[in-house]
Amino acid sequence: MNPPVQVVPIPAFRDNYIWCLRDETRAAVVDPGDAAPVFAYLTRENLELSAILATHHHNDHVGGIGALTQRHPVPVYAPFDDRIDGVTNRVAEGDRVRLPQFGLELRVLEIPGHTLTHIAYYGPNMLFCGDTLFACGCGRLFEGTPRQMLTSLTKLAALPEDTLVYCGHEYTESNLRFGRTVDPANPFLESWEQQASDLRRRQQPTLPSSLARERRGNPFLRCDDPVVAAAASRETGQDLGGAVAVFAALREWKNRF
Ligand SMILES: [Zn+2]
Repeated sequence: MNPPVQVVPIPAFRDNYIWCLRDETRAAVVDPGDAAPVFAYLTRENLELSAILATHHHNDHVGGIGALTQRHPVPVYAPFDDRIDGVTNRVAEGDRVRLPQFGLELRVLEIPGHTLTHIAYYGPNMLFCGDTLFACGCGRLFEGTPRQMLTSLTKLAALPEDTLVYCGHEYTESNLRFGRTVDPANPFLESWEQQASDLRRRQQPTLPSSLARERRGNPFLRCDDPVVAAAASRETGQDLGGAVAVFAALREWKNRF
């Protein structure tokens, strides 16, 4: 029986997190946009890199793969997308990524929207969802449609509610400001905002979140909620019918926010 794997954030750039799965001696990293902080962490903790997983092609998620694999020729898992180099294992919906060093198997979920080939990795109690689902928010639609993104978010939200959500960026405080604007009378969002600002004041990550929390608070997962739909309708000056229209309006509103 393996000891439980730890999941640790390695901060990168201004607000990225490279998530590191680790035990006493080995580590796997998710979305290493930059190799330098990963090398520094591996050296400091005396860990051997054993795998790399990527969720999507943006450089702040894959930019460090080349330098890492030059020094550590480990398996690299990524979606079928030629824009990601140095991949050893292309994976798609339903594939399993086995990390036997941690006694762990992660399932691949295709979640287009932020990009068309974005994937997530889901395992017992943990979800690595890149730039699709954020704490109280979601990624921008660079390539996909609102309908695609909403379908992807709905798919993630249907996972067990005790799933911990490991997102690609520390955007929680600004997402909560937006969430509170959409739904100002919600005491759950108020206390979440308080917790998040306490953590940030102490320079602690606000992540992981949980699906229970996201389902309850995240406006992008509540497009059927009359409060959220009414706020989006007020903002656009239109009577928005249906969750996709509400989602599209929320996403546009957040872009301007
Ligand atoms: Zn991205």
